[in-house]
Amino acid sequence: MSGAATQPAKQPSAGTKPQLRALLVEDNQLDAELVLRALRKNDFEVSAVIVQDEAAFVKALLAHCPEIVLADYNLPGWKGMEALNVIRRQGLDIPLIVVSGALGDVTAVECIKQGATDYVLKDGLARLPEVVRRALREKHEHGLRQQAEKDLAKKADELARSNADLEQFAYVASHDLQEPLRMVAAYTQLLSERYRGKLDGDADKFIGYASEGALRMQVLIQDLLAFSRVGRKEGALTNLDCKEVLQEVRQTLAAAMQESGAVIIPSNLPSVWADRTQMAQLFQNLIGNAIKFRGKEAPVISVQAEKENDHWLFRVADNGIGIAPEYAENIFVVFQRLHARTEYPGNGIGLAICKKIVERYGGRIWVESQPGSGSTFKFTIPIPVSTPEREAGK
Ligand code: ADP
Repeated sequence: MSGAATQPAKQPSAGTKPQLRALLVEDNQLDAELVLRALRKNDFEVSAVIVQDEAAFVKALLAHCPEIVLADYNLPGWKGMEALNVIRRQGLDIPLIVVSGALGDVTAVECIKQGATDYVLKDGLARLPEVVRRALREKHEHGLRQQAEKDLAKKADELARSNADLEQFAYVASHDLQEPLRMVAAYTQLLSERYRGKLDGDADKFIGYASEGALRMQVLIQDLLAFSRVGRKEGALTNLDCKEVLQEVRQTLAAAMQESGAVIIPSNLPSVWADRTQMAQLFQNLIGNAIKFRGKEAPVISVQAEKENDHWLFRVADNGIGIAPEYAENIFVVFQRLHARTEYPGNGIGLAICKKIVERYGGRIWVESQPGSGSTFKFTIPIPVSTPEREAGK
């Protein structure tokens, strides 16, 4: 027999059996009948096309749109497994079950390895309906999984794009606002110098408020710019000794340390692959906060690290005023602060910058704290897979 023979589906008897479009690759008419009978017995309302060569298979694949392919392993002029290549070439995802008179274990395993969904021996056709049902179920689940993965990838893509847009907006807005603001600040300053005492008392007060507001806005905009610059200006990653970085930070914070009597206790600080300026900013923001939000005692700040699997876990712990756990996440959001500016100065951007820096390296940052019991800020910095340090398992 050559070409395709169509076996129309039997009329549904009770109307409850699921419909199944099957494509059989089979040269023996009797075997094909047996296969169809096994499927039709109690399980499916089958409409089948039977082919035995590649040309007929391709035609039937497109015309019949089968949900399952049942292929004999050996045909006179073709191999059932080659049907798989045709299915793939057509960009289709249709389960293929090998139905064969005799199939050694090794050949069966080889068929599965090549992509057959399962195999059934012709003297065990009673299994066939269950094997077909499982193949259809797996295909359906696979389809759902693929769709979910696609949706997720699309969402991640959209999120990345909207983040990039937002960052671009923050950068442009803060950058372009600087110039007009400089004018407002300069002229209110001029007004206050030239006319102080020459107008009435209210005027002096109002000019004072205006120049104070302009100055505050300048600081805010500079902070916002600094925030949006993290990740924009990619500095070179180098193997940084955190002990040296901490030493630089001590110098930057020398005045605040001296004034508060702060002590920094470093321990086990490693070298990491990072941008020097950003690592320094990270330590400086955390240690600066530990000094600023101190309690009655002079600040004691320990800075430690330990290696955990594929990352370094850093801890910056202080004996300051602490943070209520319900604010533990909020404080990492831009402009979120827990105190009035008159109590503690600041704009609420320091920790947002820390978070952005840490996440840029694929790490995370969080705080563990209780009011009145000090705070421990923890962050991770992944160890790149290919550093010599990782290879040596240090
Ligand atoms: P800023 O210091 O300008 O307020 P941050 O983003 O650095 O901004 O910190 C946000 C808020 O988190 C602070 O206003 C403060 O309430 C809280 N905070 C940060 N670090 C500490 C700390 N070490 N101890 C107690 N509170 C802290």
